[in-house]
Amino acid sequence: MAKVLIPTPLRQFTGRQDAVIMAGATVGEVLNALTAQYPDLRKQIFNDEGRVRSFVNVYLNDEDIRYLSKDATAAQDGDTISLVPSIAGGSALAGPPEEMALSKHEILRYSRHLIIPEVGIDGQQKLKSAKVLLVGAGGLGAPLGLYLAAAGIGRIGIVDFDVVDFTNLQRQVIHSTPDVGRKKLDSAAEKMHAINPHVDIAKHETALTSENALDILKDYDIVVDGTDNFPTRYLVNDACVLLAKPNVYGSIFRFEGQATVFACQGGPCYRCLYPEPPPPGLVPSCAEGGVLGILPGTIGLIQATETVKLILGIGEPLVGRLLLYDALGMRFRELKLRKNPECPVCGEHRTITRLIDYHQFCGVPKTPETKVTESEIDVTEVKARLDRGDHFVLIDVREPHEYKICHIPAARLIPLGEVPKRLNELDPNGDIVIHCKSGGRSAKACGILRQAGFEHVRNMKGGILAWADKVDPSVPKY
Ligand SMILES: [Zn+2]
Repeated sequence: MAKVLIPTPLRQFTGRQDAVIMAGATVGEVLNALTAQYPDLRKQIFNDEGRVRSFVNVYLNDEDIRYLSKDATAAQDGDTISLVPSIAGGSALAGPPEEMALSKHEILRYSRHLIIPEVGIDGQQKLKSAKVLLVGAGGLGAPLGLYLAAAGIGRIGIVDFDVVDFTNLQRQVIHSTPDVGRKKLDSAAEKMHAINPHVDIAKHETALTSENALDILKDYDIVVDGTDNFPTRYLVNDACVLLAKPNVYGSIFRFEGQATVFACQGGPCYRCLYPEPPPPGLVPSCAEGGVLGILPGTIGLIQATETVKLILGIGEPLVGRLLLYDALGMRFRELKLRKNPECPVCGEHRTITRLIDYHQFCGVPKTPETKVTESEIDVTEVKARLDRGDHFVLIDVREPHEYKICHIPAARLIPLGEVPKRLNELDPNGDIVIHCKSGGRSAKACGILRQAGFEHVRNMKGGILAWADKVDPSVPKY
């Protein structure tokens, strides 16, 4: 006995069944039994000589067996046989829609949805009456905004208070070069309206906070989390759990992404997966660690797909499943997620019943301190000391590939990871200034040196980005 998975285009021949159990000792026997039971399927799968047609691939479990003899390939109990026909996309089968609740223009616009039985007029109306909130109009928000608008979601809210800058353009495809300096909200809304003027776009120009989150989220059916920091992740999660709204989650880093759906009834939430945030600075942000520009496209579109499925009530949502995507290996993996009965926000004994201070929870200061502390030194002072010829050592703890992008000529490169084993190159009594890109890694390096007994160590506040802003505008920012 083996399970045969029937692909969507062939389900019309199997009474709409997506899987059937068939007897047979070999794959050939199973397919023969299948087509004996569903004769209309036979000419779809087999040619006149009884061979499997070349546009249908046959998989036994995960193996492509198209080049093996189906009659000689044994099918064991519990095996899964998949028929995978080629799909061109699109269709020329549009018939006249019977209901006219959508306008004539909308029917034309959404015709490729209307002719899928799983969507149809009813489904398109569900999309039209749906209200989706995008938290963030950045890397993930860009494909989400474009495709959800195109799909005909009736109302799309966006929470964002940022301005488009040049470093966004490598991935945030909803913004264009002439948009640099504009509010992301305005730029995104303009592109979405250009794609689909039927969509109502609500602009929430604010940071999402414990004070405003419930009020903003309550008017939406689904929340899509496209943020880039842990305090907002936990805030979005807790607000979604408290309001019982699905939270479509996506995250990206360098070449890897994750996606899942949290806070659905019976499903786990973000806190079930990660009860506590990592210590500040352990997991670098995209700004510090970088991200392949295409990656948010892939993950954002998985989020968009899940959003549309939730609205239509079709398919298998990513609830309780964490999808991991590795762009370099070009592999998807899936991990099972379980609801944690002890979860503080969605478990049986809840300790979080209202929104808390998420910056404090994550150990991240709300606004970066602007005062230069004793352990720090301002870039302008570093410049003045260099000009005066003061005797001190300037160390750059960034990575060599960052050093290639830009560096301060007087600085000596010792990447953070090499600092502990290269302490012997430095004078413990010497005057040392350390810098990195924006000040985070250099603060760590200062800590390492101080612990090793170095007394005169200071962190150059704001890193080379501050240097580019205040000292040398010819230094490229990245
Ligand atoms: Zn939970």
